[in-house]
Amino acid sequence: MSESFIPYGRQTISQADIDSVVDVLKSDWLTQGPVVQQFEKKLSNYCQAKHALAVCNGTAALHLACLALGVGPGDCVWTSPNTFAASANCVLYCGATVDFVDIDLETYNMDINKLESKLKQAEREGELPKVVIPVHFAGQSCDMKRIKALSDQYGFKIIEDACHAIGGKYLDEPVGNCKYSDIAVFSFHPVKIMTTGEGGALLTNDDDLDRQIRLLSSHGITRDSSIMMSDSHGGWYYEQLALGFNYRITDIQSALGCRQLEDIDEFVSQRNKLAEEYDNLLQGMPVITPAKRPFSYSAFHLYVIRLELDKIKFTRKQVFGHLREKNIGAQIHYIPVNTQPYFREQGFSEADCPKAQEYYESCITLPLYPTLTADEQLRVVEGLKAAIQ
Ligand SMILES: *Cc1c(COP(=O)(O)O)cnc(C)c1O
Repeated sequence: MSESFIPYGRQTISQADIDSVVDVLKSDWLTQGPVVQQFEKKLSNYCQAKHALAVCNGTAALHLACLALGVGPGDCVWTSPNTFAASANCVLYCGATVDFVDIDLETYNMDINKLESKLKQAEREGELPKVVIPVHFAGQSCDMKRIKALSDQYGFKIIEDACHAIGGKYLDEPVGNCKYSDIAVFSFHPVKIMTTGEGGALLTNDDDLDRQIRLLSSHGITRDSSIMMSDSHGGWYYEQLALGFNYRITDIQSALGCRQLEDIDEFVSQRNKLAEEYDNLLQGMPVITPAKRPFSYSAFHLYVIRLELDKIKFTRKQVFGHLREKNIGAQIHYIPVNTQPYFREQGFSEADCPKAQEYYESCITLPLYPTLTADEQLRVVEGLKAAIQ
């Protein structure tokens, strides 16, 4: 008899979560009712940012963030290659071009020294980026103070792709407070730290960006007379001021979001405990465990190790296969975005980001989620031991 499948990540849903969604289903509004606003208020309180806007997913949030910062044809935006495709696609949606800043091999985040040298070169060539999108990989914040200092020097805007990092901290303050960025973006997909089914959010301290994002997230249409071009024709009157989208979230999803926010600190603390336990259990094995930066409390969306392949007689592909045979849902995060066929067609290759490539060839994500049991965790570690011996 084979043992049950352990996925790399999964949601935690309580009876209170279920009840809160059922309450909305019995209410007068399924979408754009009072619960969306409650969710936004709770999010901005939790993150200590002035504004929070909840939208239909993290990708839409990234797209809106780029649009609100005026990204368009002729602009260039830089991001990390070690991320989900959406961090780069959001730039292309705006008709701008994307480029990648290689990662460092300790945090697997964008290498800030590389960012600095690339900026120097871009300045000489008159091709500075309009926006930089650092990604807080696996839940550990980038060193935002340093990135902010570079943005002041070189004049770019910052969107934090914090899709892995809600519930984490940077310098003892919540990720998403936008102290060192213009906008921060979250995803509430079920594998992430907290969920609304599909869902996402943008955080900002800037009133104009908030207004612009709100407008664009709902067709570019407003009912707010203070920003209309003409006098109202009557109670039915609205104006379309820009070409926006329907990127709205529903009350059903927001109810789940409100409830999950109550539990998020518990989720993140449990993830940290399990990560520490992995660190202990993996000691002495030919693997590199995640490095922790002193300025960061990671949300631990992912627990990623690197195999020391020169000390192991199997390939990464074989180790991955052995784990899957044992019903252990190992994963790989990420295939460098610049090596995807779609990006190769635009002239990118492995050579652009050698560190991301080196990382990619030895990384494995082990299962990590708040309800992972001690027995399951042992099964993962024993499975890994057997797979590399
Ligand atoms: C999940 C994720 C996204 C996209 O979020 P969705 O809600 O799935 O659209 C973007 N960036 C990163 C780093 C992600 O992990």
